[in-house]
Amino acid sequence: MELDLACRRCPLSEGRTNVVFPDGDLDSTVCFVGEAPGRNEDMQGIPFVGRAGKMLDRLLAEEGLPRERVMITNTVKCRPPNNRVPTKGERAACFPYLEAELIGKRVVIALGRTACSNLLRREVKLADEANTVIRARIGEAEVDLIPAYHPMACLLNLDARESLRRTIRDVKRYLP
Ligand code: URA
Repeated sequence: MELDLACRRCPLSEGRTNVVFPDGDLDSTVCFVGEAPGRNEDMQGIPFVGRAGKMLDRLLAEEGLPRERVMITNTVKCRPPNNRVPTKGERAACFPYLEAELIGKRVVIALGRTACSNLLRREVKLADEANTVIRARIGEAEVDLIPAYHPMACLLNLDARESLRRTIRDVKRYLP
């Protein structure tokens, strides 16, 4: 389903400034999925441009995988009020967009618990499952799904940062 700038599928549309479209190389075989746009993302209409985004960009650059070579998107495309976790209903309303975005991907990195549970339809404990490869069917896409720490968690938690760094290193092999 094509992302709609005038989308009204859920109440998050009422508080948004911009629908946040995927960024990077939309044809990349590698896709990072976050939770939801924050304030900066809502203002600019681009995912991961705030503090978490700077951390993600830094780790990507340090590991030799430029942001421009991967696709970056979110579980929901509109900012939840006060950055709360998107509800089940909001995630379900947005899911067809995500399904369409993932067609043709080889690997999906689910950043944080919300993205993990949304894509795997079960709870994930990152301490146990980060950097494992899980074969998953998401709509029409059949992908390797890798649970990973959210870049926001990596700001203060150095173990999480090293774990996400390893994720990035591991997914480079999926690029042609
Ligand atoms: N956190 C997310 O999960 N996504 C963004 O786009 C920004 C911060």
